[in-house]
Amino acid sequence: MTLIGSVPLATSDLQIVDGARRSSTLICAPVMAETVDQMLIQTRKAKELGADLVEIRLDFLKNFSPRQDLEILIKQCPLPTLITYRPKWEGGEYDGDENKRQTALRLAMELGADYIDVELKVAHDFYNTIQGKKPEKVKIIVSSHNYQNTPSLEEIGNLVARILATGADIVKVATTAVDITDSARIFQILVHSQVPMIGIVMGERGFISRILSAKFGGFLTFGSIEAGVVSAPGQPSIKDLLDLYNFRLLGPDTKVHGVIGNPIGHSKSPHLYNPAFKSVNFNGIYLPLLVDNVANFLKTYSSPDFVGYSYTIPHKEAGFNCCDEIDPIAKEIGAISCMIKRPDGNLMGYNVDYLGAIAAIEEGLRANGANGASGSPLAGKLFVVMGAGGAGKALAFGGKEKGARVVVANRTYDKAKKLASKVGGEAITLADLENFHPEEGMILANTTSVGMKPKIEDTPLAKKALKHYSLVFDAIYTPKLTRLLREAQESGAITVYGTEMFINQAFVQFEKFSGLPAPKQLIRDTLARNT
Ligand code: NAP
Repeated sequence: MTLIGSVPLATSDLQIVDGARRSSTLICAPVMAETVDQMLIQTRKAKELGADLVEIRLDFLKNFSPRQDLEILIKQCPLPTLITYRPKWEGGEYDGDENKRQTALRLAMELGADYIDVELKVAHDFYNTIQGKKPEKVKIIVSSHNYQNTPSLEEIGNLVARILATGADIVKVATTAVDITDSARIFQILVHSQVPMIGIVMGERGFISRILSAKFGGFLTFGSIEAGVVSAPGQPSIKDLLDLYNFRLLGPDTKVHGVIGNPIGHSKSPHLYNPAFKSVNFNGIYLPLLVDNVANFLKTYSSPDFVGYSYTIPHKEAGFNCCDEIDPIAKEIGAISCMIKRPDGNLMGYNVDYLGAIAAIEEGLRANGANGASGSPLAGKLFVVMGAGGAGKALAFGGKEKGARVVVANRTYDKAKKLASKVGGEAITLADLENFHPEEGMILANTTSVGMKPKIEDTPLAKKALKHYSLVFDAIYTPKLTRLLREAQESGAITVYGTEMFINQAFVQFEKFSGLPAPKQLIRDTLARNT
């Protein structure tokens, strides 16, 4: 079943008015300290960071004296307060008498808290005890937490109906993600909710629910004051919500992009694309997407608003198999690194790795006076590719595409032969490359992992062979200056860093995602800051 496919979302209005807030979704900072003083410090920090309200977790306080502590907390808090006193039976810390707990919540209401969280299991009791004597200003959030999984759409719908039947002002449903597709059911409920609703899917696989709640109209999302100090797994920090994911700029029309991989937590790509989208006022977001099954992911998030993906390990081949159409070179390489959903819904696959590497090499040649009358300065050149793995294939096909004469040199000769025959080139072993110099001014590209950190003193080709090359490119980018490139410079060759391949493929992807020219300097600066 396609869960998101039927959600009616406007797809126009791609560029956003500079800086305008596009949704009313609030950022709520959980405050979990052992003393009132520490809590107040945290509330001030939350305000400084840009949160809209704080959730005071009374169950974390040691020696809690309700009247005195609540008076101070509510009166001195610089932001609106949501008071939660979470019992152990709902995943919290409080293990005491239930009457005392509810009495404290009622007291918080009387003392002027803005929101009170009451668990569904006791919501009817709670409403009975207040008997309609709820101060006008207070809104009651009736909450349900599931720490095991995310139920079916029908079951969540029934749960929401039960919450509404209690008289809740705001519905809160927090579930747990077993798979990234679980968030889709919460989005479906959020977008159709007639009352304010908080819908969160906890855990790393539910991360997108926390960011996209702004797109699907959630009442609030939680953002931690300190990165990693969270009240539930998968919670982003306030800083990341605002600075990395441009939370205030997200709205119903925001186009969703991301990098599909597993693991994906440490990907630098969101740091690259989100500031770039913002800088050109493009109404898009780029998320880390921890995907287990690519086909399921694509089928579930089939709405026209989920539009562009980068693919990384181990999903480049799975992505390839899910495309409706594939760029001819990506087809020959057998792997994609970028996927775009076209307006007709068809998924188009590209291998931008080769575009990035070839563009970097061409740039290096042009910057040093090569003109390439026929279009590419690589045309007609003898282009030696060391390595026949994923990057080797991309470079060899890219070289062929630009009209170069390709030689594949690989440790395992059979692989060199197979790739060379596909690109109409010649194959040799890496060992034989040392004495291979049919002409001067050749171009060399290293795509083996020889020389990569930590073995930075290794090199795939002896220095004495480098004098026959006019340009040497190394796909390795850790370290930036490999031994191969250092020795190539000493031999007088033009050198092109592996980081240039990464940057250039990012330019290409940015343009495919947004349809706008890439803010190249900004992308370079962002990458320099994040590596
Ligand atoms: P891969 O598919 O695993 O291929 C590895 C290649 O290195 C194979 O040709 C392998 O030869 C060769 N090799 C490995 N160890 C060797 C050794 N000790 N001596 C000689 N040859 C050796 O890897 P890949 O995805 O192509 O990546 C290769 C490199 O490119 C990595 O350093 C990666 O970080 C880099 N890369 C950079 C970018 C970028 O944006 N700059 C993008 C992609 C990849 P055999 O066939 O004989 O095993």
